[in-house]
Amino acid sequence: MIGVFGHPEAANLAYLGLYALQHRGQESAGIVSTDGAQLFAVREMGHVNDIFTADRLKHLPGFAAVGHVRYSTAGESTIQNAQPIAVNYAGGSVAVGHNGNLVNAIELRERLEAEGAIFASSSDTEVIVHLIARSRELTLPDRIADALRQVRGAYSLIFLSEGMVIAVRDPMGFRPLALGKSKDKGTWVASSETCAFELLEAEFVRDVEPGEMVIIDKTGAHSFRPFASQPAHRCVFEWVYFARPDSTIDGRSVYRARERMGRRLAIEHPVPADVVVPVPDSGVAAAIGYARESGIPYDQGLMRSHYMGRTFIEPSQQIRHFGVKLKLSPVREVLAGKRVVVVDDSIVRGTTSRKIVGMIRSAGAREVHMRISSPPTVGPCRYGIDTPTREELIASDHTAEEIRKYVGADSLGYLSLDGLFASVKGANEEAKNGFCDACFSNNQPINIQQPARLRQLRLVSA
Ligand code: SF4
Repeated sequence: MIGVFGHPEAANLAYLGLYALQHRGQESAGIVSTDGAQLFAVREMGHVNDIFTADRLKHLPGFAAVGHVRYSTAGESTIQNAQPIAVNYAGGSVAVGHNGNLVNAIELRERLEAEGAIFASSSDTEVIVHLIARSRELTLPDRIADALRQVRGAYSLIFLSEGMVIAVRDPMGFRPLALGKSKDKGTWVASSETCAFELLEAEFVRDVEPGEMVIIDKTGAHSFRPFASQPAHRCVFEWVYFARPDSTIDGRSVYRARERMGRRLAIEHPVPADVVVPVPDSGVAAAIGYARESGIPYDQGLMRSHYMGRTFIEPSQQIRHFGVKLKLSPVREVLAGKRVVVVDDSIVRGTTSRKIVGMIRSAGAREVHMRISSPPTVGPCRYGIDTPTREELIASDHTAEEIRKYVGADSLGYLSLDGLFASVKGANEEAKNGFCDACFSNNQPINIQQPARLRQLRLVSA
Protein backbone atom coordinates (compact mmCIF):
# COMPACT_ATOMS: atom_id res chain seq x y z
CA MET A 1 0.00 0.00 0.00
CA ILE A 2 1.45 3.35 -1.01
CA GLY A 3 0.23 6.94 -0.96
CA VAL A 4 1.89 9.83 -2.79
CA PHE A 5 1.11 13.55 -2.41
CA GLY A 6 2.67 16.52 -4.18
CA HIS A 7 4.29 15.19 -7.34
CA PRO A 8 3.29 15.86 -10.98
CA GLU A 9 3.68 12.14 -11.72
CA ALA A 10 2.16 10.78 -8.53
CA ALA A 11 0.77 7.63 -10.19
CA ASN A 12 4.17 6.75 -11.64
CA LEU A 13 5.68 7.00 -8.16
CA ALA A 14 2.86 4.87 -6.73
CA TYR A 15 3.63 2.31 -9.44
CA LEU A 16 7.30 2.17 -8.42
CA GLY A 17 6.25 1.89 -4.79
CA LEU A 18 3.96 -1.04 -5.56
CA TYR A 19 6.87 -2.73 -7.29
CA ALA A 20 8.79 -2.62 -4.03
CA LEU A 21 5.72 -3.88 -2.13
CA GLN A 22 4.80 -6.71 -4.51
CA HIS A 23 5.74 -9.31 -1.86
CA ARG A 24 2.74 -8.10 0.23
CA GLY A 25 0.23 -9.28 -2.38
CA GLN A 26 0.31 -10.87 -5.81
CA GLU A 27 -3.38 -11.37 -6.46
CA SER A 28 -4.45 -7.96 -7.71
CA ALA A 29 -3.16 -4.40 -7.81
CA GLY A 30 -4.57 -0.95 -8.34
CA ILE A 31 -3.78 2.75 -8.40
CA VAL A 32 -6.19 5.66 -7.98
CA SER A 33 -4.93 9.17 -8.73
CA THR A 34 -6.39 12.69 -8.55
CA ASP A 35 -5.84 15.94 -10.38
CA GLY A 36 -7.78 17.88 -7.74
CA ALA A 37 -11.09 17.71 -9.61
CA GLN A 38 -11.76 13.98 -9.88
CA LEU A 39 -10.34 10.52 -9.20
CA PHE A 40 -8.94 8.17 -11.87
CA ALA A 41 -8.67 4.43 -11.23
CA VAL A 42 -6.99 1.32 -12.66
CA ARG A 43 -7.50 -2.01 -10.85
CA GLU A 44 -6.73 -5.43 -12.28
CA MET A 45 -6.01 -8.99 -11.29
CA GLY A 46 -2.34 -9.97 -11.48
CA HIS A 47 1.10 -8.56 -10.78
CA VAL A 48 2.07 -4.89 -10.81
CA ASN A 49 4.38 -5.34 -13.77
CA ASP A 50 1.65 -6.90 -15.91
CA ILE A 51 -1.11 -4.43 -15.03
CA PHE A 52 0.54 -1.02 -15.31
CA THR A 53 1.70 -0.52 -18.86
CA ALA A 54 2.95 2.93 -19.90
CA ASP A 55 -0.37 3.47 -21.65
CA ARG A 56 -2.41 2.69 -18.53
CA LEU A 57 -0.28 4.95 -16.37
CA LYS A 58 -1.02 7.82 -18.79
CA HIS A 59 -4.66 7.51 -17.74
CA LEU A 60 -3.77 8.22 -14.11
CA PRO A 61 -2.97 11.96 -14.07
CA GLY A 62 -2.52 14.23 -11.09
CA PHE A 63 -0.43 15.23 -8.12
CA ALA A 64 -1.61 12.57 -5.63
CA ALA A 65 -2.25 8.83 -5.78
CA VAL A 66 -2.87 5.74 -3.69
CA GLY A 67 -1.76 2.25 -4.77
CA HIS A 68 -2.45 -1.20 -3.38
CA VAL A 69 -1.41 -4.83 -3.87
CA ARG A 70 -3.69 -7.50 -2.48
CA TYR A 71 -3.67 -11.14 -1.53
CA SER A 72 -6.39 -13.26 0.02
CA THR A 73 -7.82 -16.77 -0.13
CA ALA A 74 -8.55 -18.33 -3.54
CA GLY A 75 -12.32 -17.99 -3.20
CA GLU A 76 -12.12 -14.24 -3.01
CA SER A 77 -9.61 -13.69 -5.72
CA THR A 78 -11.92 -11.46 -7.74
CA ILE A 79 -11.70 -8.09 -9.41
CA GLN A 80 -14.56 -6.85 -7.18
CA ASN A 81 -12.27 -7.18 -4.20
CA ALA A 82 -9.28 -5.48 -5.85
CA GLN A 83 -8.19 -2.23 -4.23
CA PRO A 84 -8.05 0.73 -3.85
CA ILE A 85 -11.82 0.96 -3.59
CA ALA A 86 -13.01 4.30 -5.02
CA VAL A 87 -16.51 5.73 -4.40
CA ASN A 88 -18.49 8.94 -4.54
CA TYR A 89 -20.26 10.12 -1.40
CA ALA A 90 -22.17 13.27 -0.41
CA GLY A 91 -18.94 15.18 0.30
CA GLY A 92 -17.01 14.24 -2.88
CA SER A 93 -14.94 11.21 -3.86
CA VAL A 94 -12.69 8.97 -1.81
CA ALA A 95 -10.43 6.01 -2.53
CA VAL A 96 -8.92 3.68 0.06
CA GLY A 97 -6.33 0.93 0.31
CA HIS A 98 -6.45 -1.37 3.35
CA ASN A 99 -3.84 -3.63 4.89
CA GLY A 100 -5.23 -5.81 7.68
CA ASN A 101 -8.46 -7.54 8.59
CA LEU A 102 -11.51 -6.34 10.52
CA VAL A 103 -12.82 -8.82 13.06
CA ASN A 104 -16.34 -7.31 13.28
CA ALA A 105 -16.84 -6.81 9.52
CA ILE A 106 -19.65 -9.36 9.20
CA GLU A 107 -21.59 -7.91 12.11
CA LEU A 108 -21.25 -4.38 10.67
CA ARG A 109 -22.09 -5.54 7.17
CA GLU A 110 -25.29 -7.22 8.33
CA ARG A 111 -26.30 -4.05 10.14
CA LEU A 112 -25.57 -1.88 7.09
CA GLU A 113 -27.41 -4.27 4.75
CA ALA A 114 -30.42 -4.22 7.06
CA GLU A 115 -30.35 -0.43 6.72
CA GLY A 116 -30.37 -0.67 2.92
CA ALA A 117 -26.69 -0.63 1.99
CA ILE A 118 -25.73 -2.60 -1.14
CA PHE A 119 -22.26 -4.15 -1.22
CA ALA A 120 -20.31 -4.67 -4.44
CA SER A 121 -17.63 -6.95 -2.95
CA SER A 122 -16.98 -9.39 -0.11
CA SER A 123 -14.09 -7.25 1.14
CA ASP A 124 -14.15 -5.95 4.71
CA THR A 125 -12.76 -2.66 3.40
CA GLU A 126 -16.09 -1.86 1.76
CA VAL A 127 -17.65 -1.81 5.23
CA ILE A 128 -15.36 1.12 6.10
CA VAL A 129 -16.40 2.95 2.92
CA HIS A 130 -20.11 2.53 3.74
CA LEU A 131 -19.57 3.78 7.28
CA ILE A 132 -17.77 6.87 5.91
CA ALA A 133 -20.57 7.57 3.42
CA ARG A 134 -23.21 7.31 6.17
CA SER A 135 -21.35 9.40 8.73
CA ARG A 136 -22.97 12.71 9.68
CA GLU A 137 -19.61 14.38 10.27
CA LEU A 138 -18.82 17.27 7.94
CA THR A 139 -15.18 16.76 6.90
CA LEU A 140 -13.61 13.64 5.39
CA PRO A 141 -11.10 13.17 8.25
CA ASP A 142 -13.95 13.39 10.77
CA ARG A 143 -16.05 10.94 8.75
CA ILE A 144 -13.09 8.52 8.60
CA ALA A 145 -12.50 8.79 12.35
CA ASP A 146 -16.23 8.27 12.98
CA ALA A 147 -16.24 5.16 10.75
CA LEU A 148 -13.10 3.68 12.27
CA ARG A 149 -14.37 4.08 15.82
CA GLN A 150 -17.01 1.48 14.87
CA VAL A 151 -14.64 -1.16 13.50
CA ARG A 152 -12.43 -3.58 15.43
CA GLY A 153 -9.37 -5.38 14.16
CA ALA A 154 -6.30 -4.62 12.12
CA TYR A 155 -6.15 -1.74 9.70
CA SER A 156 -3.45 0.34 8.17
CA LEU A 157 -5.26 2.51 5.64
CA ILE A 158 -4.36 5.10 3.02
CA PHE A 159 -7.20 7.32 1.78
CA LEU A 160 -7.15 9.65 -1.21
CA SER A 161 -9.60 12.47 -1.89
CA GLU A 162 -9.42 15.33 -4.39
CA GLY A 163 -7.33 17.38 -1.98
CA MET A 164 -5.56 15.12 0.48
CA VAL A 165 -3.95 11.80 1.37
CA ILE A 166 -4.82 10.41 4.81
CA ALA A 167 -2.80 7.62 6.43
CA VAL A 168 -4.32 5.83 9.46
CA ARG A 169 -3.01 3.02 11.65
CA ASP A 170 -5.28 1.16 14.04
CA PRO A 171 -4.83 1.77 17.78
CA MET A 172 -3.10 -1.62 18.25
CA GLY A 173 -0.74 -1.04 15.31
CA PHE A 174 -0.99 -4.57 13.91
CA ARG A 175 0.27 -3.69 10.43
CA PRO A 176 3.16 -1.35 9.70
CA LEU A 177 2.80 2.08 8.06
CA ALA A 178 5.57 4.60 7.49
CA LEU A 179 6.00 8.16 6.23
CA GLY A 180 8.69 9.37 3.88
CA LYS A 181 9.50 12.53 1.96
CA SER A 182 11.55 13.17 -1.15
CA LYS A 183 14.42 15.59 -0.73
CA ASP A 184 14.07 17.58 -3.93
CA LYS A 185 10.36 18.06 -4.62
CA GLY A 186 8.98 17.82 -1.09
CA THR A 187 6.73 14.93 -2.13
CA TRP A 188 5.15 13.03 0.78
CA VAL A 189 4.96 9.24 0.66
CA ALA A 190 3.07 6.89 2.98
CA SER A 191 3.95 3.22 2.62
CA SER A 192 3.25 -0.16 4.21
CA GLU A 193 6.99 -0.70 4.37
CA THR A 194 10.07 1.49 4.27
CA CYS A 195 11.61 -0.62 1.48
CA ALA A 196 9.50 1.39 -1.01
CA PHE A 197 11.22 4.67 -0.10
CA GLU A 198 14.54 3.66 -1.64
CA LEU A 199 13.04 3.21 -5.11
CA LEU A 200 11.14 6.50 -4.83
CA GLU A 201 14.25 8.35 -3.63
CA ALA A 202 12.32 9.38 -0.54
CA GLU A 203 13.80 9.55 2.91
CA PHE A 204 12.18 7.83 5.86
CA VAL A 205 10.57 10.45 8.11
CA ARG A 206 8.92 8.29 10.77
CA ASP A 207 6.44 5.48 11.38
CA VAL A 208 2.76 6.33 11.61
CA GLU A 209 2.11 5.43 15.23
CA PRO A 210 -0.62 3.06 16.42
CA GLY A 211 -3.85 5.06 16.67
CA GLU A 212 -2.52 7.97 14.62
CA MET A 213 -4.12 9.69 11.62
CA VAL A 214 -1.79 11.72 9.39
CA ILE A 215 -3.46 14.15 6.98
CA ILE A 216 -1.26 15.24 4.09
CA ASP A 217 -2.43 18.22 2.03
CA LYS A 218 -0.86 21.22 0.35
CA THR A 219 -0.08 22.77 3.73
CA GLY A 220 2.00 19.74 4.84
CA ALA A 221 1.52 16.68 7.05
CA HIS A 222 -0.61 17.00 10.19
CA SER A 223 -0.95 14.45 12.96
CA PHE A 224 -4.17 13.63 14.85
CA ARG A 225 -5.12 11.12 17.54
CA PRO A 226 -8.82 10.45 16.98
CA PHE A 227 -9.06 7.13 18.87
CA ALA A 228 -8.89 6.06 22.50
CA SER A 229 -5.44 4.63 23.11
CA GLN A 230 -4.98 0.87 23.54
CA PRO A 231 -1.98 -1.37 24.24
CA ALA A 232 -0.01 -1.88 21.00
CA HIS A 233 -0.03 -5.32 19.34
CA ARG A 234 2.36 -5.10 16.41
CA CYS A 235 2.36 -8.28 14.31
CA VAL A 236 5.57 -10.14 15.21
CA PHE A 237 5.23 -12.26 12.06
CA GLU A 238 6.13 -9.20 9.95
CA TRP A 239 9.69 -9.56 11.29
CA VAL A 240 9.70 -13.36 10.93
CA TYR A 241 8.46 -13.62 7.36
CA PHE A 242 6.10 -11.12 5.84
CA ALA A 243 8.06 -7.85 5.59
CA ARG A 244 11.02 -7.42 3.28
CA PRO A 245 14.39 -7.70 5.05
CA ASP A 246 15.44 -4.24 3.85
CA SER A 247 12.51 -2.66 5.70
CA THR A 248 12.57 -1.18 9.19
CA ILE A 249 9.33 -1.40 11.18
CA ASP A 250 8.80 0.80 14.21
CA GLY A 251 12.53 1.37 14.49
CA ARG A 252 13.49 -2.30 14.23
CA SER A 253 15.37 -3.60 11.19
CA VAL A 254 13.73 -6.70 9.75
CA TYR A 255 17.09 -8.03 8.53
CA ARG A 256 18.82 -7.60 11.90
CA ALA A 257 15.88 -9.18 13.73
CA ARG A 258 16.03 -12.22 11.45
CA GLU A 259 19.78 -12.52 11.86
CA ARG A 260 19.33 -12.45 15.65
CA MET A 261 16.61 -15.13 15.36
CA GLY A 262 19.20 -17.33 13.64
CA ARG A 263 21.78 -16.64 16.34
CA ARG A 264 19.28 -17.51 19.08
CA LEU A 265 18.32 -20.68 17.21
CA ALA A 266 21.98 -21.76 17.17
CA ILE A 267 22.13 -21.22 20.94
CA GLU A 268 18.81 -22.93 21.66
CA HIS A 269 19.26 -25.81 19.18
CA PRO A 270 22.95 -26.50 18.47
CA VAL A 271 23.96 -29.49 16.33
CA PRO A 272 27.28 -30.72 14.88
CA ALA A 273 27.08 -30.07 11.12
CA ASP A 274 29.12 -29.20 8.01
CA VAL A 275 26.99 -26.53 6.35
CA VAL A 276 24.11 -24.13 7.12
CA VAL A 277 21.70 -23.69 4.24
CA PRO A 278 18.74 -21.29 4.07
CA VAL A 279 15.37 -21.94 2.51
CA PRO A 280 15.41 -18.90 0.22
CA ASP A 281 14.44 -16.10 0.47
CA SER A 282 12.92 -15.56 3.90
CA GLY A 283 15.28 -18.02 5.67
CA VAL A 284 18.47 -16.31 4.45
CA ALA A 285 19.10 -13.78 7.22
CA ALA A 286 18.30 -16.33 9.97
CA ALA A 287 20.63 -18.89 8.34
CA ILE A 288 23.43 -16.29 8.25
CA GLY A 289 22.79 -15.68 11.97
CA TYR A 290 22.86 -19.41 12.72
CA ALA A 291 26.11 -19.82 10.81
CA ARG A 292 27.78 -16.83 12.50
CA GLU A 293 26.80 -17.97 15.98
CA SER A 294 27.65 -21.65 15.48
CA GLY A 295 30.78 -21.20 13.37
CA ILE A 296 29.40 -23.67 10.79
CA PRO A 297 29.95 -22.42 7.20
CA TYR A 298 26.98 -20.86 5.40
CA ASP A 299 26.29 -21.86 1.81
CA GLN A 300 23.50 -21.72 -0.75
CA GLY A 301 22.32 -25.30 -1.02
CA LEU A 302 18.90 -24.46 -2.44
CA MET A 303 18.26 -22.17 -5.38
CA ARG A 304 14.94 -20.40 -5.86
CA SER A 305 13.33 -19.24 -9.05
CA HIS A 306 12.18 -15.65 -8.52
CA TYR A 307 9.54 -15.88 -11.18
CA MET A 308 7.14 -17.91 -9.04
CA GLY A 309 4.75 -16.77 -6.31
CA ARG A 310 4.86 -17.81 -2.66
CA THR A 311 3.64 -21.32 -1.86
CA PHE A 312 1.16 -20.61 0.88
CA ILE A 313 -0.99 -18.34 -1.24
CA GLU A 314 -1.37 -20.79 -4.11
CA PRO A 315 -4.87 -22.16 -4.45
CA SER A 316 -4.67 -25.92 -4.04
CA GLN A 317 -2.57 -28.43 -2.20
CA GLN A 318 -1.71 -30.24 -5.42
CA ILE A 319 -0.42 -27.13 -7.10
CA ARG A 320 1.45 -26.20 -3.94
CA HIS A 321 3.45 -29.45 -4.06
CA PHE A 322 4.25 -28.88 -7.66
CA GLY A 323 5.13 -25.29 -6.80
CA VAL A 324 7.88 -26.34 -4.40
CA LYS A 325 9.54 -28.37 -7.11
CA LEU A 326 9.39 -25.50 -9.53
CA LYS A 327 10.60 -22.91 -7.08
CA LEU A 328 13.47 -24.66 -5.32
CA SER A 329 16.21 -26.86 -6.60
CA PRO A 330 19.11 -28.39 -4.63
CA VAL A 331 22.78 -27.61 -5.31
CA ARG A 332 24.34 -31.06 -5.18
CA GLU A 333 27.90 -29.69 -4.86
CA VAL A 334 26.95 -27.97 -1.59
CA LEU A 335 24.88 -30.77 -0.08
CA ALA A 336 26.34 -34.17 -1.11
CA GLY A 337 27.95 -36.08 1.75
CA LYS A 338 27.30 -33.23 4.24
CA ARG A 339 25.54 -32.90 7.57
CA VAL A 340 23.16 -30.06 6.64
CA VAL A 341 21.39 -27.53 8.87
CA VAL A 342 18.49 -26.13 6.85
CA VAL A 343 16.92 -22.92 8.20
CA ASP A 344 13.35 -21.84 7.36
CA ASP A 345 11.10 -19.16 8.85
CA SER A 346 8.11 -21.35 9.72
CA ILE A 347 6.35 -24.66 9.18
CA VAL A 348 2.73 -24.23 8.13
CA ARG A 349 1.19 -27.51 6.93
CA GLY A 350 4.47 -29.42 6.95
CA THR A 351 4.14 -30.51 3.33
CA THR A 352 6.64 -27.95 2.01
CA SER A 353 9.19 -28.77 4.73
CA ARG A 354 8.84 -32.48 3.99
CA LYS A 355 9.50 -31.80 0.33
CA ILE A 356 12.55 -29.67 1.11
CA VAL A 357 14.07 -32.27 3.44
CA GLY A 358 13.48 -34.94 0.79
CA MET A 359 15.09 -32.73 -1.84
CA ILE A 360 18.20 -32.18 0.30
CA ARG A 361 18.50 -35.90 1.03
CA SER A 362 18.09 -36.78 -2.63
CA ALA A 363 20.99 -34.43 -3.38
CA GLY A 364 23.18 -36.70 -1.21
CA ALA A 365 23.09 -35.06 2.24
CA ARG A 366 24.18 -37.38 5.05
CA GLU A 367 22.03 -35.72 7.73
CA VAL A 368 19.35 -33.02 7.57
CA HIS A 369 18.70 -30.88 10.65
CA MET A 370 15.78 -28.50 10.31
CA ARG A 371 15.81 -25.23 12.26
CA ILE A 372 12.82 -22.87 12.32
CA SER A 373 13.29 -19.19 13.17
CA SER A 374 9.90 -18.87 14.89
CA PRO A 375 7.87 -20.91 17.41
CA PRO A 376 5.39 -23.55 16.17
CA THR A 377 2.48 -21.94 14.28
CA VAL A 378 -0.45 -23.21 16.35
CA GLY A 379 -3.32 -20.98 15.23
CA PRO A 380 -4.59 -18.96 12.28
CA CYS A 381 -4.23 -15.19 12.03
CA ARG A 382 -7.35 -13.05 12.21
CA TYR A 383 -5.51 -9.78 11.67
CA GLY A 384 -4.54 -9.77 8.01
CA ILE A 385 -2.06 -12.61 7.37
CA ASP A 386 -3.74 -15.33 5.37
CA THR A 387 -2.60 -18.44 7.21
CA PRO A 388 -4.55 -21.70 6.81
CA THR A 389 -7.22 -22.83 9.28
CA ARG A 390 -6.22 -24.37 12.62
CA GLU A 391 -7.00 -27.88 11.31
CA GLU A 392 -4.51 -27.43 8.49
CA LEU A 393 -1.66 -26.18 10.71
CA ILE A 394 0.49 -29.17 11.58
CA ALA A 395 1.70 -27.70 14.89
CA SER A 396 -1.87 -27.17 16.15
CA ASP A 397 -2.18 -30.85 17.05
CA HIS A 398 1.28 -32.40 16.66
CA THR A 399 4.36 -32.27 18.87
CA ALA A 400 7.73 -31.15 17.54
CA GLU A 401 8.86 -34.79 17.54
CA GLU A 402 5.82 -35.84 15.49
CA ILE A 403 6.51 -33.01 13.05
CA ARG A 404 10.17 -34.03 12.83
CA LYS A 405 9.13 -37.54 11.87
CA TYR A 406 6.63 -36.25 9.31
CA VAL A 407 9.09 -33.92 7.57
CA GLY A 408 11.77 -36.64 7.69
CA ALA A 409 14.52 -34.60 9.38
CA ASP A 410 17.21 -36.02 11.70
CA SER A 411 16.43 -33.26 14.16
CA LEU A 412 14.03 -30.32 14.35
CA GLY A 413 14.33 -27.17 16.47
CA TYR A 414 11.95 -24.23 16.76
CA LEU A 415 12.92 -20.83 18.16
CA SER A 416 11.26 -20.21 21.54
CA LEU A 417 8.77 -17.37 21.99
CA ASP A 418 11.21 -15.68 24.39
CA GLY A 419 13.95 -16.08 21.79
CA LEU A 420 11.72 -14.55 19.12
CA PHE A 421 10.93 -11.47 21.20
CA ALA A 422 14.54 -11.05 22.27
CA SER A 423 15.49 -11.15 18.57
CA VAL A 424 12.88 -8.63 17.42
CA LYS A 425 13.42 -6.24 20.25
CA GLY A 426 17.22 -6.33 20.38
CA ALA A 427 19.43 -6.26 23.41
CA ASN A 428 18.27 -3.09 25.09
CA GLU A 429 14.59 -3.73 25.53
CA GLU A 430 13.10 -5.76 28.32
CA ALA A 431 9.32 -5.44 28.19
CA LYS A 432 7.53 -8.22 26.35
CA ASN A 433 4.37 -6.30 25.62
CA GLY A 434 3.66 -4.37 22.45
CA PHE A 435 3.34 -7.33 20.06
CA CYS A 436 0.74 -9.75 18.78
CA ASP A 437 1.92 -13.37 18.87
CA ALA A 438 -1.51 -15.05 18.63
CA CYS A 439 -0.55 -17.49 15.87
CA PHE A 440 2.26 -18.81 18.12
CA SER A 441 0.58 -18.52 21.54
CA ASN A 442 -3.20 -18.51 20.92
CA ASN A 443 -3.33 -15.32 23.04
CA GLN A 444 -5.82 -13.25 21.05
CA PRO A 445 -5.39 -9.50 21.52
CA ILE A 446 -9.02 -8.93 20.51
CA ASN A 447 -11.94 -10.89 21.90
CA ILE A 448 -13.48 -12.37 18.77
CA GLN A 449 -17.17 -13.16 19.08
CA GLN A 450 -17.88 -15.02 15.85
CA PRO A 451 -14.98 -17.22 14.80
CA ALA A 452 -17.14 -19.76 12.95
CA ARG A 453 -18.83 -17.13 10.79
CA LEU A 454 -15.57 -15.37 10.15
CA ARG A 455 -14.16 -18.62 8.80
CA GLN A 456 -17.08 -18.97 6.40
CA LEU A 457 -16.49 -15.68 4.66
CA ARG A 458 -12.72 -15.22 5.25
CA LEU A 459 -12.70 -11.48 4.73
CA VAL A 460 -9.05 -10.64 4.27
CA SER A 461 -7.40 -7.58 2.80
CA ALA A 462 -3.75 -6.76 2.37
S1 SF4 B 1 -1.75 -13.76 14.73
FE1 SF4 B 1 0.39 -13.95 14.06
S2 SF4 B 1 0.39 -13.26 11.92
FE2 SF4 B 1 -1.51 -12.53 12.87
S3 SF4 B 1 -1.12 -10.46 13.58
FE3 SF4 B 1 -0.72 -11.84 15.28
S4 SF4 B 1 1.47 -12.34 15.14
FE4 SF4 B 1 0.84 -11.47 13.18
